[in-house]
Amino acid sequence: MKPRYDCLKCPGYCCSYGRIVVTERDIARLARYFDIPVEKARHRFAYRYRTKDVDEWILRHRKDHVFRSVCRFLDPETRRCTVYEARPAVCREYPDGIRCGYFEFLMFEREHQDDPDLVIDAR
Ligand code: SF4
Ligand code: SF4
Repeated sequence: MKPRYDCLKCPGYCCSYGRIVVTERDIARLARYFDIPVEKARHRFAYRYRTKDVDEWILRHRKDHVFRSVCRFLDPETRRCTVYEARPAVCREYPDGIRCGYFEFLMFEREHQDDPDLVIDAR
């Protein structure tokens, strides 16, 4: 079925999520993409997030002019992924259906506020 969202009309909200998990396969794919050793890719692109319940590697962020911060791989101007072919599995899967909640919220607010360029940091 055809997706009911259009990423080209969105500033990359999903890329602003704070805990974008990368697997070992994701790190290896990024290492190949940049032609650097896996351990270098791991620490350059991700960091270890540990609590008493969680132990995972997540993508590093950088400051952003739209959201507070976004994944380091999001182009700040085009709002597109700069490693699209090598992006992590979770990015390939999201939003895992034909609907994206943020997109629907954004479209609703743009219509109600009569502002086609409105951007909302919904976190
Ligand atoms: S939040 Fe939804 S519409 Fe926006 S880029 Fe991500 S998947 Fe696309
Ligand atoms: S790797 Fe690409 S798609 Fe995934 S969060 Fe970063 S910019 Fe977004």
